[in-house]
Amino acid sequence: MERFWYFLIPLALLIIAEALWPRRSRSLSRASRWPSAVLLLGSGLVLMRLLVPAGLVGISLLAEDANFGLFNWVPLPVWGVAILGYMIFDLAVWAQHVAMHRIDFLWRFHRVHHADPDFDVFTALRFHPGEMVISLAWKGAVVALLGVPAVFVLWYEVLLNVGAMFNHSNLKIPRGLDQWLRLGLVTPDMHRVHHSTDHVEANRNFGFLIPWWDRLFGVYQDQPVAGHTDMEIGQSRWRGASDQSIWALLAQPRFKP
Ligand SMILES: [Zn+2]
Ligand SMILES: [Zn+2]
Repeated sequence: MERFWYFLIPLALLIIAEALWPRRSRSLSRASRWPSAVLLLGSGLVLMRLLVPAGLVGISLLAEDANFGLFNWVPLPVWGVAILGYMIFDLAVWAQHVAMHRIDFLWRFHRVHHADPDFDVFTALRFHPGEMVISLAWKGAVVALLGVPAVFVLWYEVLLNVGAMFNHSNLKIPRGLDQWLRLGLVTPDMHRVHHSTDHVEANRNFGFLIPWWDRLFGVYQDQPVAGHTDMEIGQSRWRGASDQSIWALLAQPRFKP
């Protein structure tokens, strides 16, 4: 229950901040977008709960009981596990995101996130339940192989959720502050490049929390070519309000890339 507040409070604060300091005007009304994003998230969470009731934390406890996984074999100080675990886990999430774009079957599910013609905090909730299950299987494997302690799994999930809501927010952050934040964190201006309708730009900036992987693997782009207010966001298909209904979003993966 506590985790619900770690989600709800940042969400509420970001919605207020977006209203105070908006980056772009929206192409669709927020009312035509947010209910389906919330329903999509809700259905994904129910599906995940049915498949793996104890979630990632449960997987981590199982690994600990079985004395399985890197951190259970190699004793490290707590801060070492925290830092190394954070970095390896984030790299694994980055690699999964790249795979979601490169493999057609995976892209069909991830495309639902990209087919949002706007970019705000509700885009961060908009993932197809199929992608959420694929993501759970991948993260579960990483948690088990690493043997990350349950407390870190819990914190990493909270950070990832809050980080995703922040870096999708329609928030105007001064350029100097944005560049400074980018030393350690993926910012909205950095992730917005990834939501461009332009194919090249959509294959840049895959990071969710740590911004270094994109630089390291040569897929970093500082700013969109057309600028943040003029760039087109989303996919060239599925731009209308009717494409944003929960049923349209659930059915979207059936269309060929
Ligand atoms: Zn993506
Ligand atoms: Zn995104």
